[in-house]
Amino acid sequence: MNSESLFKSAKKHIPGGVNSPVRAFGSVGGIPRFIKQAEGATLTDADGKKYIDYVMSWGAMILGHAPGGVVKAIIDSVVRGTSYGAPTAGEIRLAELIKKAFPSIEKVRLVSSGTEAVMTAVRLARGVTGRKKIIKFDGCYHGHSDSLLVKPGSGVATFGLPGSAGVPKEIAGLTISLPYNDIAAFERVIRTEEKDIACVIVEPIAANMGVIPPREAFLWALRKWTKKYGALLIFDEVISGYRVTRGGAQELYGIEPDLTTLGKIVGGGMPLAALGGPAKIMDYLAPDGPVYQAGTLSGNPLAVQAGISTLETLQDKNIYIGLREKSQHLIERIKMIARKKKRDIQIQSVGSMFTVFFSSKPVENFAQVKKTDSKAYARFFHNLLDKGVYFPPSAFEACFLSTAHSSLEIERTEKIMEKAL
Ligand SMILES: *Cc1c(COP(=O)(O)O)cnc(C)c1O
Repeated sequence: MNSESLFKSAKKHIPGGVNSPVRAFGSVGGIPRFIKQAEGATLTDADGKKYIDYVMSWGAMILGHAPGGVVKAIIDSVVRGTSYGAPTAGEIRLAELIKKAFPSIEKVRLVSSGTEAVMTAVRLARGVTGRKKIIKFDGCYHGHSDSLLVKPGSGVATFGLPGSAGVPKEIAGLTISLPYNDIAAFERVIRTEEKDIACVIVEPIAANMGVIPPREAFLWALRKWTKKYGALLIFDEVISGYRVTRGGAQELYGIEPDLTTLGKIVGGGMPLAALGGPAKIMDYLAPDGPVYQAGTLSGNPLAVQAGISTLETLQDKNIYIGLREKSQHLIERIKMIARKKKRDIQIQSVGSMFTVFFSSKPVENFAQVKKTDSKAYARFFHNLLDKGVYFPPSAFEACFLSTAHSSLEIERTEKIMEKAL
């Protein structure tokens, strides 16, 4: 069985042959690789071909694939049952670890996906404030719930869809989407809508339209005006949390949101995500409060143990120094190669995530991202893939490094990059 025949067969049974759209390679063309195994920084596909992975399950696998400690934690847990539908001691431990990394969080609710975490955070904000409208930013992706599929990034950007069919305009109408990094546009809107805005949600470092660092003044403006008008500020740190530094963008920039959503890394590669904030807000959630939220598999014991093992490892801050150095080294090398080859690219990065944009100027919002040369990216992507380097199959996504990427693998990537560019 190879990827080509598997994809053909998958399309008969699964819409588009995949269980999450970007995996289908729609925007870069070609056959998605079906993966049979992964270890460290290496993916092995159904044909037995190996790749140095820079997707790392969209950032989740910061310790590499199948890291020993996490695998052991899962094995130790699985023999004791896979789900109880009742609380476990591990959930307390995981909440404690999250609180330690994120001082803005006093209480944590565990859910199974980032989509769910964000959906709950928005409902909570509406429940707490008694208001309806929300503000988000073009190109930021916050999962696929109805309210948030308005000018989103990630797969929806990849496919050029105007949001999604199936979202009633009455619901989408309660979401205002504004240009990222545009302080004036934001101030104008929040001033006129002041009494109606329940929350402002943002990726404090945009990573679902490629990596776009925030202007710090932009994040400060969000903080200032939400406080002034009694709206909640939600930092969606599903990607940036535990990625750019242990405490995410809020630690990096020193700005505390009212609510934080976490996912990807927090579950160590298992389906787990979280939302958290001050007790006085979080206590609005059921069973203590009137805002309903629940989940049969929430706080799943395997996912919780995988999360605990991952977050315990990440307590060592040297990990982030190492990751940043390794990433900067690779980025500098790619820039050098591009200069030598006279390729117009911009590499935008924060910590150990980066995007190679085919553009002559840096990009700082979604409108500019859409003007970059995604056809050139698609050719670049396939050149890399052929030679065994797995970059994201879309010009609008981020590359991620892990602690498992060795200097040998980075060097090999640089050699392949030389040809691919
Ligand atoms: C991935 C992502 C989500 C959605 O998480 P899922 O687990 O895919 O539902 C939400 N917000 C951000 C910022 C993300 O990167």
